[in-house]
Parts: sequence; C-alpha cells; structure tokens
Amino acid sequence: MLTTKSLRLLVLFGWLFFQSLCWATAPAAAAQPNIIFILADDIGYGDLGCYGAKQIRTPHCDGLARDGLRFTDAHAPAAVCTPTRYAFMTGEYAWRRPGTGILPGTAGLIIEPGRTTVPALLKRVGYQTGVVGKWHLGLGTTPTDYNGEIRPGPLDIGFDEAWILPATGDRTPCVWVENRRVVGLDPADPISLDYGVKRGEPGSFVRGIPRIGGQTGGTAALWKDDEIADVIAAKSVAFIERQVARNDDRPFFLYLCTHDIHVPRVPHERFRGSSTAGVRGDSVHSFDWTVGKVLGALERLKIADDTLVILTSDNGGVLDPNGPDEVNAGTVETNNGHPHNGPLRGDKGSCFEGGTRVPFILRWPARVKPGTSAALVCHIDMLHSLATLTGQMLTGNEGPDSFDLLPDLLGEKTAGAGRTTLVEQGWMLALREGTWKLVPPPKIKKKTADQQEKSPRAAQPQLYQLATDLGEEHDLAKEHPERVQRMLETLEQIQAQGRSRP
Ligand code: CA
Repeated sequence: MLTTKSLRLLVLFGWLFFQSLCWATAPAAAAQPNIIFILADDIGYGDLGCYGAKQIRTPHCDGLARDGLRFTDAHAPAAVCTPTRYAFMTGEYAWRRPGTGILPGTAGLIIEPGRTTVPALLKRVGYQTGVVGKWHLGLGTTPTDYNGEIRPGPLDIGFDEAWILPATGDRTPCVWVENRRVVGLDPADPISLDYGVKRGEPGSFVRGIPRIGGQTGGTAALWKDDEIADVIAAKSVAFIERQVARNDDRPFFLYLCTHDIHVPRVPHERFRGSSTAGVRGDSVHSFDWTVGKVLGALERLKIADDTLVILTSDNGGVLDPNGPDEVNAGTVETNNGHPHNGPLRGDKGSCFEGGTRVPFILRWPARVKPGTSAALVCHIDMLHSLATLTGQMLTGNEGPDSFDLLPDLLGEKTAGAGRTTLVEQGWMLALREGTWKLVPPPKIKKKTADQQEKSPRAAQPQLYQLATDLGEEHDLAKEHPERVQRMLETLEQIQAQGRSRP
C-alpha cells in the first residue's frame, strides 16, 4: 500500500519524467531573422582575402567572415550556374531533372509553380521575399516571349518582387526584367532572339560584346554592362529599405545574385586596374563593393544584428575568353598567377573540388558566434535548414535531397561534421563521404575538348582523402578497393532512390 508521501514522490517523478521527454523532443524555438542569401557568380575558393587571396582585396567579405562563421568545406550543388540555382531553390539535386543544364535565354521556367522553394517556404510563415540580380532558371514558356507579360516567373514560385537579369551577361536578352515585364521596352521595337547565332559571329554582338544568341530589337531597354553591379546594389538596398519602411515586424528574405564575376567581366571603370589579378580580380573588387553596400545598409538601418547573411558562390572560379579579341583567338584572360581556387584541383565545371567547393560565410550577430567550420555543407541544404529555423517541417517529397544542417550552419555543434554524403555535380557526378572523395570513371563516351580538360581521363575510379590531400593529387583507389566499391554502390543508390534526405 502506497503512503501519501510515496504517492506524492511517484507523481513528482512521473511529472519530471514527462517533462524530460518534452524537453528531449521539443525543437529549439523557431526564429524569424531577416535572411539575405548573396550568391556570387564564378567566384572561386581562393578569390577572397579571408580565403587566402593576396592579389585581390575584399575588406567587406573579410569583415563578414571576421564577424561570422567561415566554412572551409561548403559546396555549391553543381559546378555551373543553372543546376546550382535549381538545387538551391528546390532542395533537389539538379541531375535528377533533365533540362536543368546551363539554359539559353529562350528557355521557359524550369521550376513548376506550386513547388516548395526557399522563398515559398519562407512566405508561408510571413516573410516578404525578393530576388535581385542574375536569375538563369528560365522565364515564361519556351521559347520565351519578352515582349508582353512574362509568366510563369519568380513571382510564381515564391517571390513577392523581382528585379532580374534573365539568363547571364554572356547571352541574350541583354535587358532587365522587373516582375513580369522588360524594363524600358519600346513596344515599337520588340525583342527577337536567335540562339542559332554563336558567340563571336557578326549577329552576336550586343553593345560591342559578343554574346551567345543574337538579339534584335529592345534597343532602348539594353543594359549597360559596366553598370550592372551598380544597378544590382541599388535595387538590393532599395528592397531592404522598403522592408524597414513597412514597419510591420514582418521579416524579409532577399535572394541577391550578383553578375560579378561572370563573363563578360566589364567592371565599372572605378575598379579597372585596382587589383593585380587582371580584369577578373577587378571584378572581385566590384563584387566586394556590392557586399559593402548591402552590409552598410543593414548597419545604417540598424537591422544588422537580426539579419542572417550568407555569402557564397554558385560554382568555382575559371579563366575565360573575356573580350572580343580573346573570343576570336580562343585564348583566355590572364590573372597574373592568382590562384582563383586556392589549393583546389579543377575549375568551374569540374568534379574535382575546384568545381563546387566555394567560399561560404554566415553572419548572424544575434545568434552565431564568429569562427570557422569544417562541416560539409551545401546550398541544397538551405531549404531544410531554413524550414527548421522558422519552425516548419518538410513533408512528402519536399526538398528530396536537402539535409537539416541548422546546428552546423549556426555553429552550435562543436564537432559538427555536416553532411554524411554529398554528390558533387561536375561534368559527371562524384561522391563525398566525410573527407573521402570518389571520382567515378566517366560515362560520357564522346566528350568535347573542354570536358576532356575538366574531367579526369582515367577510365578507373579515383579515390582521394581530402583531409591529407586537398589538391586531389594522390589517387588511393588501388589501396582501398573495398571503399571504392562501397562508395560506387552508395552513389548508385542515391541516384536510384530518387531522394537522399534523411
Ligand atoms: Ca556561375
């Protein structure tokens, strides 16, 4: 028979046990900081001062790193523009979807309206959402008609407002689109695009620069290449100012995609010759200036503490033919020996680390302690991690490859290693498992000369241990045949399953 005292003790222990269960399962309190995702274009792992650059000065990026968390093993989901942007937005590896390669300016939107995207997810919990800068996810339906209302577009997949450059500067159309319309288009001079025209052919020149795809019409709407960075910075700052002016406590999300430092690299003359790493280095200076404008606005408006800023790049660095002369001669620009991808092997496009390992800095003064992190993270994880941050769950097939890495991203896991696996998408797929890296033999039988250069030539799988061999110089496949076999099977499994989210 229980005494009153022992009954009371039993009830007390029972209550404590119940509470401990609640504490164990309760998620951390949801938070709604403003979020700015700055996506640079083609900036490599070695291009910023805080990642070791010596010939290029990036005080604003470096300041962000000093006050934030700098990641040393962060990856773009792919080694080129469009698939990276697709995977960031949807949380799905782009290689699962045909038609997500580098798009022409006539491609329709490749993300179906109604899909869960980063902006759509944040809108659900009250965020005001905007995109400024390079889009390159297609617009309207193929072939895009730029002369009327363009839909579907960013406003149909989660953005409240958009000021975008439709594809990229090296291809047509060379105009800005605000929400659903080309800015400054004269209806009497409609835009017509011809992707049968190759870069360098007579019909490919717009404002004296050879582009992919010809453009006639839309003359009054043409952008000025050396003003692109200024326009993107001004539109970004204006977006932030409008959010503060609303004064209604709703947080905002800004997806800020610079054109710097993609070709054609035409930095404003105030940046010309400012670095010792050629026009490419000057373009990084232009990028850093943009970052400074945005961070300065946050300070001025007194919202820096409650704003989570991420700065990263859509793929690794590369030297290109940059002007008409180089395009004609088939030569590339010089950067005077600046190692744009630092110690990494390979460039943009490659499945070696130089293809996808990129700068990644996260600053959120109210919550994140400054430092560095070696956790393996990827842009593709933003969807799931931001869902958790804002108190949401992914269900069904939402973000099928997006991991919840919130503790790693916020530096709240002291020994956080991030992802268990990551598929790195270059011209072919490679697999990361911790610090091991598997590069399978190429399946492409007929490769272009360019792909030959960027991909390994060996017909055998290659294996690297990045902890001791960051430059991927020592192939260990022969020493570890079982690991190679297991990783090949894992890669096949991730492909066959259609999803990899835990
Ligand atoms: Ca890019």
